[in-house]
This record gives sequence, structure tokens and C-alpha cells, in this order.
Amino acid sequence: MKLIFEKSTQGRSCSILPPCDVEQIELKEGLARKTKPDLPQLSETDVSRHYTELCNRVHGVNNGFYPLGSCTMKYNPRIDEQMAALEGFTSIHPLAPDYSTKGCKAVLDTAEKCLCEITGMDGMTFQPAAGAHGEFTGVLLIKQYHASRNDTRRTKIIVPDSAHGTNPATAAMCGFEVVNIPSAPDGCVDLQALKGALGEDTAGLMLTNPNTLGIFDENILEITRMVHEVGGLCYYDGANLNAVMGVVRPGDMGFDCIHLNLHKTFATPHGGGGPGAGAVGCKAFLRAFLPGSAIKGHEGIQVRSFAGNFLVVVKAVTYILTLGKEGIPEAARNAVLNANYLMRRIQGTFEPAFDRICMHEFVLDLSRFKEETGVSALDVAKSLIDRGIHPPTMYFPLIVHEALMPEPTETESKETLDEAADIFRELYELARKDPDYMKSSPHNAQIGRPDEVQAARNPILRWKRT
Ligand SMILES: *Cc1c(COP(=O)(O)O)cnc(C)c1O
Repeated sequence: MKLIFEKSTQGRSCSILPPCDVEQIELKEGLARKTKPDLPQLSETDVSRHYTELCNRVHGVNNGFYPLGSCTMKYNPRIDEQMAALEGFTSIHPLAPDYSTKGCKAVLDTAEKCLCEITGMDGMTFQPAAGAHGEFTGVLLIKQYHASRNDTRRTKIIVPDSAHGTNPATAAMCGFEVVNIPSAPDGCVDLQALKGALGEDTAGLMLTNPNTLGIFDENILEITRMVHEVGGLCYYDGANLNAVMGVVRPGDMGFDCIHLNLHKTFATPHGGGGPGAGAVGCKAFLRAFLPGSAIKGHEGIQVRSFAGNFLVVVKAVTYILTLGKEGIPEAARNAVLNANYLMRRIQGTFEPAFDRICMHEFVLDLSRFKEETGVSALDVAKSLIDRGIHPPTMYFPLIVHEALMPEPTETESKETLDEAADIFRELYELARKDPDYMKSSPHNAQIGRPDEVQAARNPILRWKRT
């Protein structure tokens, strides 16, 4: 497909700009650009076709099943977009006087109230722009808390090996030493290993529950108790709250601070790089350290300008208020039901890594399948593309080899899940009959198999006219 710049024809245009309503000024010497910007010149028809073609080449939730584990690619109701498009929200200036921003303030207050109720926290900030940014903010709260008590011995953060990769990265970026602990054979935290890692130098533990294996840790109360006993704090990675929202609360599990990915669970489409929001909540004793907190003696950190990605918060509030007290837990229960249904429908071919009830997602272990057929998890993922399904998350979590991790979400129907399960089963058979076909898939996609190392190391992000 040609780039829009390559489709450009000198002199063609479609822009009809509104008349200028501000005073026109001459820029001072040295401020104006020397050459005109090299913008593409196309007719309106061509622009429209260009973007329609791009749209047709993308696989999104509106195209088909998108079971990308840990990413919660659910359908986001249109009403959330409509509310976020209201002019009173889109045209507001962050420095506008208070009397003119009362509505926006009410949205932020409602979001804080609802999400504190859902999570069992006492205060919340919406500054962080993404999940990892929220983790960074949350772990800084832990750091500030210990510093405020002159407790300087606490240099270590404990992270289980099933954690999302951002957890150890966050702890390291906040200046902590990361202590990795292995999972027990059942996929939960190994209590003995945790015990061995805990001590006077423990600043805290970072955990997600359900974890990245899709398993709810039954020892969660014991785990947080053990951490608190040695004076550490408990951080909850709530990126995947979709599995538990309205059913159980991280605050009641014993966690002191959390982040939520509003763009995963609370109705902001994601995958294209943002904007998102990594809301951070905490218990009352940490509130003074929240960004924007004006409590005397603690300046509070600033991790982003103003109120963060405000329109994402508008969507979250709309989502919560439209689903309501009954709808929120119902969504979570259906997310769990759908994952268990799909797992059992696939079982007998591709086997789950843990044969037990899962939460919002499950992990398939294809190592034996690969030994038998030579077809890898990657080959299955590529073959799913040919069948109109976005591949599940692959080779994650790292502790399962040849892993595929589907997360169907609550917004898929039984028919879609049945169809997907049939496709998985067909591919299982196909791998035995024609492994080479699967190893060379996808056959019907826009591109085949890109060189992933080249694509990651030497991405071409800028086009230059030759
Ligand atoms: C997605 C995810 C993150 C990171 O969120 P971003 O918004 O991509 O930074 C962190 N932890 C878990 C468990 C996740 O699923």
C-alpha cells in the first residue's frame, strides 16, 4: 500500500479552512520556517479512500475476535465515546477558572468515589497516563512513605516470576532492588519463597491477583499479612481488574496501593498507543503522597500535567454509571465465565497449563504439541490470523513455555466463542496433517512474517522524499 505522501499530486487539495478569527501577525526574523511544509496534496475522495483502506487492513474489536490475554480487548460502548466528545469536556482549558470547570471537577470526583468503592481504596489520582506510569507513581508512594518515617533500610521490592514485565522494571526505575520469587507448582505465590525473601529491607511487594496465569491466589490474605508483618507495603497491579471488579476488592485483600488501567477495564479503546490512564489509588495513610496532594509537609509528586488524560476518565465514569452496581460485577462474572467456557471447549486438543478454574484468561501450554508436530505457539498464532482471529498473547507469562494466553472478555457471545474454539481444534488437527502449511502461515494476511528482530531494532518510523 502506498503512503499518503506517495499518493500526493502537486496542486490537488480539499482543505476548506474556516476564516481566521484571530489577529494575523508577521513572525519575527528567525522564527518562521524557511521552506513550506511538505504536506501531501490529495482530493477529498483520495483522502477518504486512503484512510478507509488503512482501516480495512487493521484488525480491531470491530473486525472480529481479539482474545489478546492481559490486554482486555473488549468492546467499548459507543455512549462512552459520545460523552467524551461533548464540547464542555473537549473544549475546556486546564487553566480555566474554577467556576467554569465545575462539571469537569464533578467528573473527577465521581470517578474517584466510584473507583475507590470498587477497589476498597480511600483516595485516587488520575495523573498517570498508562498502567506502567501508574505503577511508577504507586511505587513512589511506597518509597515516600518509608522515607517519611526515616526508614532507609528498605531497599527491596519483591516481585513474583509470574508478574507482568512492567513490575520489575518499575521497581528498578524507582531505585529499588528487585527480588524475584518463583511461583509454586499451582501457579500461586510460593509462601516459603516469599518468607525467605521478606525482611527488614523489604520496601514492598508488587502483585497482581488474579495473576498473569489467570489464577486467583487463594493465599492472598496470608501473603499481604506476611508482608505487613515485616513492615513492607503491598502494591496491587490492577491492570486486569476486569476479572474481579465489583466482586472482590484489592483493599480488602490487604493491598495498600494500586493502579488501574482505565483503558483496559473501563471503556477506552487501546492498542494504538493511547491515550490511556493508569489511575492510582491508595489507603488513607498514603494519601498525602498522591500527586497533586496539597497536604502540608508533603509536597506530593507530580507525574504529569494537570489532571492527566481527562477524557479517558469521562469514559470510565460513563461506563461505570451505565453499568451500575449490578452491571459491574456482572461484567466481571461474564468475563470469567467466557474464559472458562473457551478453555474447556478447547481442552482435549490444546491443553491448559493449569487444569483448574481460571479467572478472566487462561494459559495454554503447547510444549508437548510442539514436540509432537514441530508446530510452535507462534505458528498457531499466525494461523489464527488467517482465520480472522487476532492471536492471543504469546510466550507470556515466561514461566510457561510455548504459551498462548487467550482472554475472551465478557463482550463476546457464545456463538463467537464456539466458532473460535472450533478454529483452535481445527488447527490442532491441521498441525498433524500439514505442519508445513502452518509453519508458513499466514497465507491470507496483508504481510507474511516480518523479521521481528529487524522490526524491533531498526524500525523505519519516518518517510523521506527521495
Ligand atoms: C497491561 C498491563 C500493564 C501495563 O499497562 P500499560 O498501560 O501498557 O503501561 C501492567 N500490568 C499488567 C498486569 C498488565 O496487563
